[in-house]
Amino acid sequence: MPSRRGFVRMSAGAAVLAAGAPAIARARPRVVIVGGGVGGLSVLRALSGDDRRRVDVTLIEPSTTYTTCFYSNLYYGGFRSLEVLQHGYRQVAGLAGVRVVHQAATAVDRERRRVRLADGADVPYDRLVLSPGIALDYDSVPGWSREAADVMPHAWKAGPQSVLLKRQLDAVPDGGLIVMIAPPDPYRCPPGPYERVSMMAHALTASGRRNARIVILDPKRNFSKQPLFQQGWEAHYPGMIEWLPPMIHAGVSRVEPETMTVETGFETYRGADLVNVIPRQTAGRVAVEAGLADDTGYCPVAATSMRSRHDDAIFVLGDAAVGGDMPKSAFSANSQAAVAAAAVIEDLLDRPAPPARFRNKCWSLIAGEDSVYVGGRYEPRDGRITQVASEISALEDDAATRRTNYADSAAWYLGLTSALFG
Ligand SMILES: Cc1cc2nc3c(=O)[nH]c(=O)nc-3n(C[C@H](O)[C@H](O)[C@H](O)COP(=O)(O)OP(=O)(O)OC[C@H]3O[C@@H](n4cnc5c(N)ncnc54)[C@H](O)[C@@H]3O)c2cc1C
Repeated sequence: MPSRRGFVRMSAGAAVLAAGAPAIARARPRVVIVGGGVGGLSVLRALSGDDRRRVDVTLIEPSTTYTTCFYSNLYYGGFRSLEVLQHGYRQVAGLAGVRVVHQAATAVDRERRRVRLADGADVPYDRLVLSPGIALDYDSVPGWSREAADVMPHAWKAGPQSVLLKRQLDAVPDGGLIVMIAPPDPYRCPPGPYERVSMMAHALTASGRRNARIVILDPKRNFSKQPLFQQGWEAHYPGMIEWLPPMIHAGVSRVEPETMTVETGFETYRGADLVNVIPRQTAGRVAVEAGLADDTGYCPVAATSMRSRHDDAIFVLGDAAVGGDMPKSAFSANSQAAVAAAAVIEDLLDRPAPPARFRNKCWSLIAGEDSVYVGGRYEPRDGRITQVASEISALEDDAATRRTNYADSAAWYLGLTSALFG
């Protein structure tokens, strides 16, 4: 593989050759982005700004509609329709210097720097950006499987699974039982399961089903924003939500979709009306199979650039990356994309990248207009992305503050999705 400086020299040479001749593709470095979600599209937008005439960008994304996981819990609560969470790639495909290929990447040939597509074609790259999100481990809960997800949905990738979960939630009777199996760390959106439970409880309460019960079987001893969620549950849904840490349930030993049964070390829940299985997660398969992951199942990266620790020509970001202290969130993925895009430009066009700085802020809606947040700033320290400041809603915050949080989250959603898809 040519060195970084060697590559820059090569590009400059190609540009000189091209000066007196019609532009040729090789005069422009080829950046291929796998994954048209938050991380991938944020890099694309950054690259297709100032430098769009100097970098060719190919986006590889199988889906023609992106349904945001962020805000999908509000769909269960009745605060958003699914349609407003869905976005298309028409505007992106119209950007100068950008090609959108609606296919899955099935493999990465790191030696030859090519991405293999589902139809067997190869897409060559000079730099590759991988933001394929997560893969779900269907074997991590005994008795559960890809097929069982049609009965016991995960809805941790938004789309048809979200519709199924909502349909099942709508059918839960008053006095019914919902069991959520929460995921082990590290996983996409740490507060997500608890916001989801809040939204389920809101929908049940708002429709007169106050006697329904939600049991959370958690493999973790504590969870994100726990005091804020538990305070909110007590205030809005007293007695409805039961959170059980591992020492109380002793682990989920098995699920049986046919009878809607969940067995734990202590208790067996039979005939549940809804079982939401959120399994263990890893980096998206294409990144793992390219040999870019470590023992955690996620891809280690340089904290200053999001460059893969296994391959200098590849950048990994978003949920697929080991983000140091950063949680896996859309906000994080967008922030990491700014760093990755600057590093790609520095690499290809010999421009200095600014120092890497990251941010995250995650809001969770507990009930109508009762929204709480957690956030932080991060910098590279000792080779890892390290939290240097944090912020979190206070238990004492009044209703007006919570309403403002909700307005802030809505503005963030609109801003991000407009910037990416609009
Ligand atoms: C219920 C829930 C609530 C959430 N709420 C919030 C929130 O309030 N705030 C927040 O910041 N985050 C939230 N998140 C997290 C957020 O959705 C993710 O962290 C974010 O989408 C990560 O971006 P990404 O680019 O890594 O992955 P994604 O946005 O998932 O994008 C990955 C893309 O890669 C594509 N892809 C996968 N494999 C391939 C392949 N082989 N070839 C080509 N393309 C491929 C996929 O189709 C997908 O479009 C929530 C998540 C969930 C599940």
